[in-house]
Amino acid sequence: GLRGRGGAGFPAGVKWGFLPKDSTKPVYLVCNADEGEPGTFKDRQIMEFDPHLLIEGMAVSGYAVGAKLGYIYIRGEFAWIADILERAIAEARAAGKLGNNILGRGVEFDIRVARGAGAYVCGEETALIESLEGKRGNPRLRPPYPAVSGVFGCPTVVNNVETLACVPYIVLQGAEAFRQIGTPNNSGPKLFGVSGHVKNPGVYEFPMGVSLAKVLEAAGGVVGNLKAVIVGGLSTPILKAEECRDLTLDYDTCAAAGTALGSGGIIVMNDTVDIPEIALRTIEFYAHESCGQCTPCRQGSTTIKQMLRRVVGGKGSSADLANVLQLCKTIKGNTLCPMGDAFSMPIEAMVVKYKDEFESLLPDAGSDQ
Ligand code: SF4
Repeated sequence: GLRGRGGAGFPAGVKWGFLPKDSTKPVYLVCNADEGEPGTFKDRQIMEFDPHLLIEGMAVSGYAVGAKLGYIYIRGEFAWIADILERAIAEARAAGKLGNNILGRGVEFDIRVARGAGAYVCGEETALIESLEGKRGNPRLRPPYPAVSGVFGCPTVVNNVETLACVPYIVLQGAEAFRQIGTPNNSGPKLFGVSGHVKNPGVYEFPMGVSLAKVLEAAGGVVGNLKAVIVGGLSTPILKAEECRDLTLDYDTCAAAGTALGSGGIIVMNDTVDIPEIALRTIEFYAHESCGQCTPCRQGSTTIKQMLRRVVGGKGSSADLANVLQLCKTIKGNTLCPMGDAFSMPIEAMVVKYKDEFESLLPDAGSDQ
């Protein structure tokens, strides 16, 4: 019942099951600690304040998938957290809980920390693997998938920090106990990073399927009048206040509501927020982070950025807005990695749902009335 907490919600056990049973190559377990999605800041809490939970989760998971070495790929900006992890790994080794004879039982598993250089795209698992191998972090064409050919061409499992941190509880308490938390298809606890217009921004833990209202209440409530919420990190489509009033937070309900639970990075906006400005800042970020390998993402993000700059600067036209929407449709599903979707879906949602705000910025707004 453990679904990946990195964003996709893919069942971790199914992912592990993709590893070839008859491979003679070493298997690697990689922990994705890149956490670059804007609005997301929950994995760092685990690594900073309970690194041994992650280490234990990796050791058990490594044993389960037959890996003798695991990597924690951590974004470059988390330098102090990488130091914490390295100290904790040394402690675990000294206590005989990592190494080539764990707890005297002949089990071998060790962990190395690999520091990235701060690229959003390195949160995508094949780009992460390229970077881990010392190359530029460009996503790979798939297939082959990492389960077959990942790190150094060997079978590899890549799991998010929070996913791996759930594993010790499942092993100690049993799968049934884990499934008792949350809803039937969305088991276990979930960390939500709440930012924006709430009284107490921070990370809050709830069972999967909790209502958004309850999470916002825990965060001290909305400051001002709620206008919009992004529930799963910046790459997930925005929801208007009226769309999220009764929303519960699990993968399936959020998908049915036209968005995604993603990483659980909840960004709250009150009515002082200007959505065209948010759209521009969003596309500026993604255009900057595009690795440039495929045209729809490289050129599409830059073109959308130029058009939205014109609109926000009061020099746009209704053709710009129509072209932004057309480009979003063209880009969606047509890029090498999910980055194309990561910006075309939220931009499309902002322009469609807040069209009047965009149109009010056009110089010819209201001229035909
Ligand atoms: Fe690179 Fe963007 Fe293509 Fe992903 S979608 S491979 S980030 S250019």
